[in-house]
Amino acid sequence: MPETLTGPILITAGPTYEPIDAVRFLGNRSSGRMGVAIAQAACAAGFATLLLLGPHCVEPTEHPKLTTLRFRTTADLERLLVQYWPHQANTLIMAAAVADFRTKGGGCGEHVKLARKTGGVTLELEATPDLVAACVGRKKAAQQVIGFALEPATQLVERAQAKLQRKGLDAIIANPLETMDAKDVDALLIRTSDGSLTQPEGSLSKTEFAQWLITELSSA
Ligand code: C5P
Repeated sequence: MPETLTGPILITAGPTYEPIDAVRFLGNRSSGRMGVAIAQAACAAGFATLLLLGPHCVEPTEHPKLTTLRFRTTADLERLLVQYWPHQANTLIMAAAVADFRTKGGGCGEHVKLARKTGGVTLELEATPDLVAACVGRKKAAQQVIGFALEPATQLVERAQAKLQRKGLDAIIANPLETMDAKDVDALLIRTSDGSLTQPEGSLSKTEFAQWLITELSSA
């Protein structure tokens, strides 16, 4: 039997920006809309919700059950997750598009702007820690960690299932690459407990998908 949803719910959303110098960064096209929609659906369903939201993402509409904190870098998000997980929530939904690589040493610092060079510049990158895998490592019995997988449509299910197992998640929301920065979503939910794959009919707006997801997770 799949676990049912229990609050408080901690949700991460949006991209991370990894600094290159005082004004430039490595980022990605995540808009944060999916995670924000899940946070709005969660608090509308009565769950106390803490949203950790990345840079340049539109703030959710205010709600008495919703608190929003901002992060910019993977390191910022890591600090917030250590602070709030597993002590302050029972379910973590990790929708943030966390960078896989960042500039080694955190870039050139806040006060340096690299000058134009005709010969170009070489950036040294290092792997970021897998934040959701670390959260799985810290979770207590009866807590749930739900991740996201953004994969090519042709290999969506097999890659998401592999990620679910590799990271030790309780469930994963698999969506095709086209979902990033798009209005609509064509995703499915895969659970570890019973191996089930569930999907709403047709493609939905991110708001509709978020409502479907919270209902689906709550009614397990
Ligand atoms: O490994 P991949 O980035 O494809 O996995 C996606 C899932 O892992 C998402 O839930 C994302 O939030 C999380 N992730 C993470 N830390 C990273 C990279 C991804 O928590 N450094």
